[in-house]
Amino acid sequence: MIKDRLAEVNENIEKAAKISGRTREDITLVAVSKTVENDQIIELNDLGIKDFGENRVQDLEVKMHQIDRDINWHYIGPLQTNKVKFLTGKVKLIQSLDRQRLANTINNLSKREGIITDVLVDINIGEEESKIGYMKDEVEKALEKLSKLENIRIKGLMSMAPYVEEGKEEDNRKYFIEMKEIFDKYKNIKSGNMDFEILSMGMTADYHIAIEEGSNMVRVGSGIFGKRIYN
Ligand SMILES: *Cc1c(COP(=O)(O)O)cnc(C)c1O
Repeated sequence: MIKDRLAEVNENIEKAAKISGRTREDITLVAVSKTVENDQIIELNDLGIKDFGENRVQDLEVKMHQIDRDINWHYIGPLQTNKVKFLTGKVKLIQSLDRQRLANTINNLSKREGIITDVLVDINIGEEESKIGYMKDEVEKALEKLSKLENIRIKGLMSMAPYVEEGKEEDNRKYFIEMKEIFDKYKNIKSGNMDFEILSMGMTADYHIAIEEGSNMVRVGSGIFGKRIYN
């Protein structure tokens, strides 16, 4: 089951990559394992998937502890400053950096631990009340301030397109195009801690569209593990 779904996802990624002049290898697949049992994570890891995403600190902590594997964990959910200490030095990438205070906390803890923590700046591209992330018109000022923090490294941007009904995913293409424009604006700027390489966008419903428009990291959950009952 998982094996078949993974094969299908890989095929779709390859197709979309080709359309945008790239190959499968140019796209990182992050398997979103929230609510998923450990044995399924292990099964997928055995199939060659190394990157896994979680959106709750406590769940991630338990899984990191229980699954003794060489896995790149990605934190993709809302993050309280008092929980940052559970992530620094343990996760590969914090994808949901959405405010200065959180950045300061990650920076300070990283400094104390003598490490540099890789982050993505989260953009609320659909300007939705219900979502975290910087608004488009805040990005420039935010990056200017964030880029001065010496113990974080800004690896790029992440975004989650608005929820749309099944069959209406094309409505979100414009947001992926906008994200790519913002990404391109900063990708050659190497001042301070800026090191743009990653544009993380696309989930089960829309990763094909996101890749066509330039995403190089997709976060796919239900498309691999099957439908979730809760989030
Ligand atoms: C749950 C989640 C995903 C994956 O969603 P699917 O629709 O299951 O692919 C991707 N990104 C974030 C931030 C999520 O919370």
